[in-house]
Amino acid sequence: MVHMLREESLGAKIAVQDGVLIYYCLQCSYNTPYKWNMKAHKLIHSGERPFVCNVCKKSFNRKGNLKTHLMVHLRDVSQ
Ligand SMILES: [Zn+2]
Ligand SMILES: [Zn+2]
Repeated sequence: MVHMLREESLGAKIAVQDGVLIYYCLQCSYNTPYKWNMKAHKLIHSGERPFVCNVCKKSFNRKGNLKTHLMVHLRDVSQ
């Protein structure tokens, strides 16, 4: 039995299956069982990307994502 709920404030649909919640993004195929993950993901669509790569100007919504991205440039340099 699956219940689908809609959570406007979160910009997500919530599927409840056997007492387990899964959050589905309304704007892409992203889904996660964690509400805080969905909150963080939502920033992708709201355009809040305060972390900008100073090499290629690509922007990121999370500092961790920018850090991961910077490894790409480090690899470029070493090759
Ligand atoms: Zn999404
Ligand atoms: Zn970059």
